[in-house]
Amino acid sequence: MKLTLKVKFKPGITTATAAYAPIKYDKVGYFCFQFDDGSKGFLVADNLWNSYSYTDGCGNVKHYKGSVGMNRGTGVPGSNDYSAGVFNGPDLIGLINKGHDVENHSYYHTGNTNNPSTDKDKDDATINIILEHDIIDKYAYYKMRGVIVPQNYTAFDTAAERLKYLWCISQGAAPFEGTPIYQGNIPAEVNTIPNFYRLTRFYNDNWDNSSIEAYKAPFNSLVAGTTNIMPMFTHSTLDVPSNLAAFTSLFDYFNTQANDKVAFISLREALEYDQIRKVPVSSSLIGDTLSLTINTEDLTDVTRFFDTSFKITADAEIDSVTVDGYTSATFNPTTGLVNGFYQKKSWLKDSPDAIQELPVKHSKFTI
Ligand SMILES: [Zn+2]
Repeated sequence: MKLTLKVKFKPGITTATAAYAPIKYDKVGYFCFQFDDGSKGFLVADNLWNSYSYTDGCGNVKHYKGSVGMNRGTGVPGSNDYSAGVFNGPDLIGLINKGHDVENHSYYHTGNTNNPSTDKDKDDATINIILEHDIIDKYAYYKMRGVIVPQNYTAFDTAAERLKYLWCISQGAAPFEGTPIYQGNIPAEVNTIPNFYRLTRFYNDNWDNSSIEAYKAPFNSLVAGTTNIMPMFTHSTLDVPSNLAAFTSLFDYFNTQANDKVAFISLREALEYDQIRKVPVSSSLIGDTLSLTINTEDLTDVTRFFDTSFKITADAEIDSVTVDGYTSATFNPTTGLVNGFYQKKSWLKDSPDAIQELPVKHSKFTI
């Protein structure tokens, strides 16, 4: 399908051009928080994040979004370990519908533990990714695009890339077999953006007032524009009051320091924007209206976020923006920023497969 923004200008317009903002909403960078192992701390954070906001650069309030890394093949139902029993299919659909993402943290949370260099171990990574992918696809109707490396096992990045995932992430660069590896920066230039991203991330499970200090400097680097992406994760369930107090204190700090310069979104939303800004735009100024059209067929059909942010340069102020294909648009007549919004929501469909409890073990495989 085609997505078109029609930007109408006030009288006197003679020239108008558009370019993608390097970062969504023309922010300086992305902060992307993840809860691994299906931690129910995600629900606590989601509640807290409703009290923070930033804008889309056009005066519209956005609340923080993040992601939960799911794995199903091990663990004890009802515990917060290895996700079993924590989130069911409808839970996940609810989180997804709120704008959050689900990532593939591998089915068994293991793999290639004996000898990372053998073909068998590479197969382990592939099987782990496929099994978890199929479970979430079947029971939450959701096609994940990111792999979180379990522990520090190698071969997950190459397996993820081979399976046409969009990214793979780990707290260290050591598990990655391929290159390049992005530590704090994804490429700014449109022409050098890869189709697969290897990213490192920050990690904190000690939620106390001294441990959180370590994450303030990297966040300040993000706000300063020294880096442009800061992924971070925890396993914490945040059900100990002192843990939640420290978590809240750190996010209070982030929210204040960000000063509306940072997009607090899932990695999927960030990296899908990074893909969409590679799509050629056909642009034409006819009369007082600049039409900007992109073809979604240029993107993989598992793309969820088709949102676009354009910076418009023109010799008259924007008067209004209408859409064709997009769901909605926002604009800022002072900065020339125009956002178009469209999100694929195929997981909203009704299905008789909806179940309250995801299977702990995949029926086709045993450990
Ligand atoms: Zn894990």
